Amino acid sequence: MHEVDKLISILAGGARIIVDKPVDKISQLVEEERDLANALIKIAAKYGKFNEDGTGIWAGYDKASMNEVKDIGVKCSNCVLYQGGASCAIIASAVEPDGKCRFAIIPDGVVKMGK
Ligand code: SF4
Repeated sequence: MHEVDKLISILAGGARIIVDKPVDKISQLVEEERDLANALIKIAAKYGKFNEDGTGIWAGYDKASMNEVKDIGVKCSNCVLYQGGASCAIIASAVEPDGKCRFAIIPDGVVKMGK
């Protein structure tokens, strides 16, 4: 039996699939960070996602191999604008979970600063 047919058969038997709603990470930020995140999203929607073509907004993206602060938590996977995989809400190019740009918006308490 094909996988899809198996799933339909299971569901027809009364099982349910529970899909987690994505966490709205932006709403969990403090107000000023939330405003910044929303402003960046608005700018990207109006002018296009930021790229590195030498015009307009420069995002200063660092690939994972160049990100010297990933170990303390400054990285895409901790940023509220990260959309999973290689996707960012405001950056045109592919991103990596351990990369970062100069706009990283990371909730309070996530970045672990040294003493
Ligand atoms: S750190 Fe920059 S590139 Fe990475 S997800 Fe956040 S905004 Fe996008």
